Amino acid sequence: MNSFVLAECTTVEGALSQLKDGAAVKAGGIDLLERMKNGTYQPSKLVNIRNISALRGIQKTQDGLTIGALTTLSEISEHPEIQTQYQILSDACGHAATPHLRNVATLGGNLLQPVQCWYYRSAEFECIRKGKNFCFAFGGLNQYHAIMDYGTCPAVAPSSSAVALLGLDARIELSSAKRGKRMVSIKDFYVEPDANPTKFTVIEPDELLTAVMIPKPAPGTRSAYQKYGEKESFDWAIADAGVVLEMDGNTCRRAVITMGAASPVVRRSQEAEALLAGKRITEETARAAGKAAMTNVQPLSMNAYKVDLFPVAIYRTILLAAGQASRDPSAAG
Ligand SMILES: Cc1cc2nc3c(=O)[nH]c(=O)nc-3n(C[C@H](O)[C@H](O)[C@H](O)COP(=O)(O)OP(=O)(O)OC[C@H]3O[C@@H](n4cnc5c(N)ncnc54)[C@H](O)[C@@H]3O)c2cc1C
Repeated sequence: MNSFVLAECTTVEGALSQLKDGAAVKAGGIDLLERMKNGTYQPSKLVNIRNISALRGIQKTQDGLTIGALTTLSEISEHPEIQTQYQILSDACGHAATPHLRNVATLGGNLLQPVQCWYYRSAEFECIRKGKNFCFAFGGLNQYHAIMDYGTCPAVAPSSSAVALLGLDARIELSSAKRGKRMVSIKDFYVEPDANPTKFTVIEPDELLTAVMIPKPAPGTRSAYQKYGEKESFDWAIADAGVVLEMDGNTCRRAVITMGAASPVVRRSQEAEALLAGKRITEETARAAGKAAMTNVQPLSMNAYKVDLFPVAIYRTILLAAGQASRDPSAAG
């Protein structure tokens, strides 16, 4: 690991004033320190925001919820309002990584973690995500990579909380010393690698992610998230699904279906959503929606199994959201 200067901050203004000359933000430090230790990221200064109390906590507002960027995944998953009104987010944060990691991992850091591709994460490989012109995954080990929407780089979106927040139509608050605050919809937050392979999100180097705002759920909303992995815990998803159902009695007025680990940025399946809108949620409609989500798939040499796994993840999560099934015992986390 390289030597670096550590700036300890207790206010947002103090941290923003330090964000220059290639400084890196440290929140929980789980992802950041891993990249520093494996030699793929060598910032000369770390700005430790961990002790900025103003960035921590969950507030109920007139419009919904505001969650501070430093709120941990455990705090989010255990919050009573989130457990009852925003189940998809409680499920996603409560099943990411491990209990120990969830006690340290922050919402901001979780949303901003770069892709988990082993070529990107190894100092031995200079890939397109590092500004070179080659992707090793296309002809290499690609069992955890994308099955859809990829061109330049098939490494998948790793953040569980992003799958939930896309379903909830959240907005991200970004703050800078020079330009003040701006709000970005989560659907515009992640940058497709085809547009810019070295930039993962729209955040600028002088900006802090300060909060996440979630609108109030519409009447009759029920939601759920499930993650499927190679192991029961300790790992990122190989397929995960988020489901938000707006119900009129037994009929689904509107559905939002989100998928992580399928594509380079978290995505919605409009095909699956269209299949549920105006219908009763049954085993049959849920299975049909899962199948519909597999439109335009292009599996790589080692990940065709995901084409079978995603429909199951989606249909079981639809039934869970609708209250017609318990949490799948074969889901991870
Ligand atoms: C074994 C293991 C299993 C895991 N499984 C999962 C999983 O299933 N699902 C999942 O989603 N994640 C998983 N993770 C990843 C883990 O959840 C993330 O590493 C963690 O959430 C990052 O949060 P952090 O606060 O430690 O971020 P940090 O490591 O501090 O930061 C991550 C990045 O975000 C930047 N950053 C952080 N906060 C801010 C901010 N407020 N403003 C601007 N920039 C900021 C940092 O500079 C850095 O680039 C796993 C990790 C491990 C080690």
